[in-house]
Amino acid sequence: MKYVALPGMIILVFLFQNSFAQQKDTIPAVTTFRFKTVVIDAGHGGKDAGARGSHSFEKNVTLSIALKLKAALDTAITDVNAILTRTDDTFIPLNQRSAIANQNHGNLFISIHCNSSPEGTAARAHKQKGVLMLVYGFHRLKEQEEAVRENASIFQEKDYKQNYESYDESDPSNLIVLNAYIQKYRKQSIRFGDLLDDEFTGVDGRESNGVKEQGVLVLAHSAMPAVLIETGFINNPEEEEYLNSDEGQHEIVMTIIRALRNYRKAIGA
Ligand SMILES: [Zn+2]
Repeated sequence: MKYVALPGMIILVFLFQNSFAQQKDTIPAVTTFRFKTVVIDAGHGGKDAGARGSHSFEKNVTLSIALKLKAALDTAITDVNAILTRTDDTFIPLNQRSAIANQNHGNLFISIHCNSSPEGTAARAHKQKGVLMLVYGFHRLKEQEEAVRENASIFQEKDYKQNYESYDESDPSNLIVLNAYIQKYRKQSIRFGDLLDDEFTGVDGRESNGVKEQGVLVLAHSAMPAVLIETGFINNPEEEEYLNSDEGQHEIVMTIIRALRNYRKAIGA
């Protein structure tokens, strides 16, 4: 019997060693996870001006903040690579922005925007102010205000029907993508949003409208934690001034950098 059992044992030992070797191969891949790339997305651009203030367009404010954020990140956090989805006044479709993020294997997607109350620049609209952080989540009818406005960028795209037909929540394959997203990245997105909220309110003394989940398309297909920051109301004259000033933009940039540092600590990366 022992002569028969021996080859079997050898095979068993071989299999065991082999699986152990495979384990050894996979363990370092997990433990050496490095936070390497932040994707910075300046909202709107080109023919899509975004929200309007009394003397400025959202697309210019977001680009200016995004460029400053990249420059500050390059100096302050040297082990992280910052990628921009646009560097000038160009129109970039929403799905192309997430494609850029995914192709560059981003670890975090930060989309910079300005808010605007529905009344536009009318006098009664000037009361609303403060920051707002959006993460991608299930659509809730009464909380769609910002999502509807930010998603309107797709109407500037020639082939928007073809490009966004796939964003159908009743399609089972999209539900699979959405569920995978929710499990993997939803918590981390909310965590980064909360850390931003802490910095904006605690350090800068800004008002905040909190962290909300909305069906914002630019966040939908980013395969990484993603937060859209509404940096302030551009149709509120006081905030328009702040958003256009070097001082205000610098403050927003430094706040994002502090929140990013805290986020990396929190996730151990
Ligand atoms: Zn916007």
